[in-house]
Amino acid sequence: MKHYIMFGPPGAGKGTQAALMVEQYNFRHVSTGDLLRHEIQEQTELGKLAASLINKGELVPDEVVEGMIQNELEAHSDVKGFIFDGFPRTVAQAEVLDKMLEKRGESVTSVISIVIDDTMVRDRIRHRAMIEDRKDDMDDETITTRIRNYHKKTEPLIAYYKERGKYNEIYGVGSIKDIFKRICSLVDSTI
Ligand code: AMP
Repeated sequence: MKHYIMFGPPGAGKGTQAALMVEQYNFRHVSTGDLLRHEIQEQTELGKLAASLINKGELVPDEVVEGMIQNELEAHSDVKGFIFDGFPRTVAQAEVLDKMLEKRGESVTSVISIVIDDTMVRDRIRHRAMIEDRKDDMDDETITTRIRNYHKKTEPLIAYYKERGKYNEIYGVGSIKDIFKRICSLVDSTI
């Protein structure tokens, strides 16, 4: 089974591109952000905790998202592969993912990093705020915290995956279709 990680700052287009990959390759899309928003909508205990952190732009605890990923892996044995979108976001999460996959005799196939700069991150999030009803996209201070957390907690994963020969960059500026073509040529070379 293949395991792809969509990597990049908030607003890079990870979710949009992951959805296109599902159509093209019959992979299962796992977005920890979507799973958490579902918990919020259902007003579960986990949802309440998640909302208090997400709305400030902070990450939820590693154990919470790791549990979600474990459930997804166990629940879907019939797919050709997984696309993780928004996970891992810390080195600790990446280490746990490696262990989970190792137990299955599998490993991360490739990290697809969509590269855009911070100015574009803000533009994209502002644009998304007009389309999707996400509280964490509405407030400038929350967006600043998310960008800061990305640089501080998530960017160290670049070195982590480079060391393991898994890291690939895709230029994230252009039409959705153009960026998807760049991703497909990468994925096709790993199948
Ligand atoms: P996203 O939809 O990927 O932008 O995620 C929205 C928010 O959910 C993030 O800003 C975090 O607060 C939380 N979140 C999503 N994925 C993770 C993760 N892997 N680790 C910690 N928090 C996460």
